[in-house]
Amino acid sequence: MATIQSATGPVDTSNLGFTLMHEHVLVLWPPMYQQYPELFDREAQMANAVGKLRNAIAAGVRTIVDLTPIDLGRDPRFIREAAEKSGMQIIVATGLYYQVPFYFHHRPDEEMTALFVRDITVGIGQTGVRAGVIKCATEPDMHAMNERVLRASAKAHRATGAPICTHTFAANKTGLDQQRVFKEEGVDLGRTVIGHSDDSGDLPYLEQIIQNGSYCGMDRIGLPRPRTDEQRADMVAKLVEKGYAERITLSHDASCHIDMLPNGAADAVLPQWNYTHIPLDIVPMLRERGVSDAAIQQMTVGNPARLFSQNSAY
Ligand SMILES: [Zn+2]
Repeated sequence: MATIQSATGPVDTSNLGFTLMHEHVLVLWPPMYQQYPELFDREAQMANAVGKLRNAIAAGVRTIVDLTPIDLGRDPRFIREAAEKSGMQIIVATGLYYQVPFYFHHRPDEEMTALFVRDITVGIGQTGVRAGVIKCATEPDMHAMNERVLRASAKAHRATGAPICTHTFAANKTGLDQQRVFKEEGVDLGRTVIGHSDDSGDLPYLEQIIQNGSYCGMDRIGLPRPRTDEQRADMVAKLVEKGYAERITLSHDASCHIDMLPNGAADAVLPQWNYTHIPLDIVPMLRERGVSDAAIQQMTVGNPARLFSQNSAY
């Protein structure tokens, strides 16, 4: 086993426990709050986040991978405080979302790579919080600027050993585009998770992702669109039946607060979209579909520990 960085310091990968591989604490557009600070009540949001993280711990979750990239309001101080107050182990990300900020468009890619590497090896700003994972995203299709981010992410991954976890637009099979670019950059696909794969009902596409070597991130569970929980659980069960439990991770892509929706709307309109849904509701649904406890353990504990244990540069 190996030691990796969490928001509150080093963690032995054998102590990650039940791990949700693709979640968020906050998803924000920070320029809004620079100009309208009254729109973000930090104290109330901290209490909300700590409550939700404690609920997750009570449901058996030990670690959350926060895949919030630089440009979606990543806030290492907030995450660390929420981790300390709740007791949740939280792994912080570096990387960029698919609408790449103009800041990067006319600068050399080496600067992007260097920032990702610095976040992982030194820490984010002056916070001392080190990123432990690299996030990149492709939606609706890969475009030139997106490809630059994927290549910079691959280079930062090889320089640091931190795994890559992605966001895809499954309807356009963008996971395969990401795999092609990673492969061209010499990435061992066994150290990547192709995320949001459960938005697809296309079994051959998901099998291709796994056969190419990546983990298949079934990580939008609880979002009723574009697939229901039943459809998502059916697909996980089908992949397990085909012998792929060692290549599947489970998560919700939920957050304590997301400002893409009006305040409170996510809780009201999407009541299943939270950190406890998998341990409390989906695990029983998987058992009903014949998924063994060993396979559930593999997907929720074994695979995250293996992914984060392979942390050497190459
Ligand atoms: Zn996400």
